[in-house]
Amino acid sequence: MNKRVVILGAGYAGVVTALGLAKETTVQEVEITLVNKYDYHQLVTQLYEPAAAAKRDTEVRIPLARLLSGKHVRFVRDVVTKIDLQAKTVMLQGGELQYDYLVVALGSETEYFGIPGMKEHSMTLKSVDEARLIRTHIERCFAEYPYDPRPEYLTFVVGGAGLTGIELVGEIANWLPRLCEESNIPRDQVKLYNVEAMTSILPGFDDDLAAKAEEVLRAKGVIFKVGSPIVQVEPEAVHLKSGEIIRAKTIIWTGGVRGNQIVVDAGFETEPRGRAKVNEYLQAAGHEDVYMAGDCCFVLNEQGRPYPPTAQLAIQMGTCVARNLCAELKGQAKTSFTPKILGTVASLGGRDAVGKVGKNYKTSGRVAYLIKDLSQIRYLAKIGGLMK
Ligand SMILES: Cc1cc2nc3c(=O)[nH]c(=O)nc-3n(C[C@H](O)[C@H](O)[C@H](O)COP(=O)(O)OP(=O)(O)OC[C@H]3O[C@@H](n4cnc5c(N)ncnc54)[C@H](O)[C@@H]3O)c2cc1C
Repeated sequence: MNKRVVILGAGYAGVVTALGLAKETTVQEVEITLVNKYDYHQLVTQLYEPAAAAKRDTEVRIPLARLLSGKHVRFVRDVVTKIDLQAKTVMLQGGELQYDYLVVALGSETEYFGIPGMKEHSMTLKSVDEARLIRTHIERCFAEYPYDPRPEYLTFVVGGAGLTGIELVGEIANWLPRLCEESNIPRDQVKLYNVEAMTSILPGFDDDLAAKAEEVLRAKGVIFKVGSPIVQVEPEAVHLKSGEIIRAKTIIWTGGVRGNQIVVDAGFETEPRGRAKVNEYLQAAGHEDVYMAGDCCFVLNEQGRPYPPTAQLAIQMGTCVARNLCAELKGQAKTSFTPKILGTVASLGGRDAVGKVGKNYKTSGRVAYLIKDLSQIRYLAKIGGLMK
């Protein structure tokens, strides 16, 4: 009987694993099943654009039927609820699946750090649906203001100044002049805050690039509160450690990620933030029939610290897992995972960005934006997502 490989999650890691494995095997060798809660692949790294009306939702999601067309991958649209490692079974809302090999690529969840009220009263940006919610919420605030002219309606708070927070606040800043014009509201009545607990923005970026990003965003009207932990959130108020209270109808939380709870509950060995430990072949510690890829696991850098969770790492892990599964099925030697960090570029809204390519090339402005765009096109070409 051919082996059954079940891949959980059709994000960057899961899709690349499925396509890579299908490319190198035949239907006689392996039965591949890909499970995802949506019937489309989300371009998560671009979600800040539909969230701020810079792109349509359909531009950041690709139907899985299109990506998997002609490939020997069976797609199951369902929600994973549990992994039973002993029984080699995955429980779904609508049934269950048996596997010989499992690939867990379920991504991450939001970390709220126990801040009172944050989970209840903030929005997050991890899916196309959430991007739509943010966009329509902001539009609604502008629409309601003339009938209830309290400044809370025109005050927007983005919590967290990592890549997600900075890209989102930049794109909202870019959108505000248009919103103000359409609503006939002067721009100076609108306040857009970025609040960060650490003393600088864009952790992991060189200081000069982070400073450049801050300068560009300040010029677009972003008010920074760095070194200002949020200590409590209420329906219309954000409390900072300093005692300052920002009254706002909108708080979007991007300040933390943690591993997927399903991974923790399954009993995999995890670090305190819930990301699973893997060996050099990306097999889960103590479970050689389970591979992990993307945000739900972690690998260490040369300094012995976990690499931050990124799409570029998830894609490279997916490629490695596909290669190792293929080797395993064909009785060949597996290869170790060696991350190759190609640099990171942060969008600052519109066609502006800052970042580093390779080890030393620093870039900003339109060139940086073009580099970011090119990496996106390269990814789409890899998964066959350019064709309509
Ligand atoms: C706004 C934003 C901007 C970013 N910008 C960048 C960037 O510029 N560069 C970069 O490298 N990284 C960036 N990142 C980080 C990057 O998006 C993640 O590291 C990447 O998405 C991780 O890929 P993944 O495959 O592990 O998880 P995901 O892409 O999140 O995929 C996980 C998949 O699993 C599915 N899933 C989850 N739970 C279940 C379940 N229970 N049942 C069924 N299906 C389930 C989800 O629907 C999803 O399809 C950004 C993130 C955000 C939010």
